[in-house]
Parts: sequence; C-alpha cells; structure tokens
Amino acid sequence: MEGRDETPRLLVNGALGRLAKWLRILGFDTEEARLKSPPEPGARILITKNRALFEGYSGHAVLVRHDLFRDQVRQVAKELGLSADPKMLFTRCTLCNLTLERVARDDAAGQVPEYVWLTSKEFNRCPKCGRMYWKGTHGARVLDELEEMGII
Ligand SMILES: [Zn+2]
Repeated sequence: MEGRDETPRLLVNGALGRLAKWLRILGFDTEEARLKSPPEPGARILITKNRALFEGYSGHAVLVRHDLFRDQVRQVAKELGLSADPKMLFTRCTLCNLTLERVARDDAAGQVPEYVWLTSKEFNRCPKCGRMYWKGTHGARVLDELEEMGII
C-alpha cells in the first residue's frame, strides 16, 4: 500500500465528469475511464457508481452513492480524507488532467483577455490543450463552492 502522506491518484469511472473536474480543481491526478470490467489493481483509487466494478476491484475503491456532483465530491473527499490544499488548488487542467505550466507575463499577452492580463500576475497554461488559467479564472466562485461542500 502507498503511504498515507502520498497524494492519492484517482480513476473516475463512468458518467462522473463533473466529479472528476472538481477533483482536478483540487489538484488531484484524476483520470477518467469507461470500464466494462474491473481494472487491474494499480496505483489509482477507483471511484465508481457501479457496484459490480466496485466489488470486483481488488484495489482501493470508493462506491459513489450520490447523484448530485456536490454530494459526490463531499463523499469522495470524506472517504479519502481529501481537503483543499492551497498549494494544489488550480494546478491541473480541469479537462486534460495535466499539471499546468507557468507562463511568463509577457508571453501571456494576447492569450488572455486584456483586462485579465492587466489585472493578473500569474498565468498558467495546459501543455496539452493550451487552455490558459489565471488566479481568479473562477477563483472566488470555486472557493465558495468548496466551502459549501465543506472541503475548505
Ligand atoms: Zn488541458
């Protein structure tokens, strides 16, 4: 088993896209899959609503019991002991799951709306899809939401 202090790596199965997106916002390495049978036990924790997969998986798994994504995030965070670490928040592309790369302010010019460039100091980019992220992209709203979920 992995040590408790290691950041868990996650594998979200099925139609749980919003849950996966929120786990990435929190900074967790979260892959998505559409599994028909239990995967080989690996380093990832399986997160699924499918009871057969959950019961058939010999590794660490979470059976999602809720339909609403807020309840799902809350349940997974609680069962896995995840919390919002400011150092991890907004470090990962919510679509591709890759760690964002810092972009120099000059290089960000023209890649983000002008008011954003003028008012922001830090810019990050997904190395795969090229999406730009900056502090405040959805910062305040996301933090409110996480507070609502009881994760902050
Ligand atoms: Zn991306």
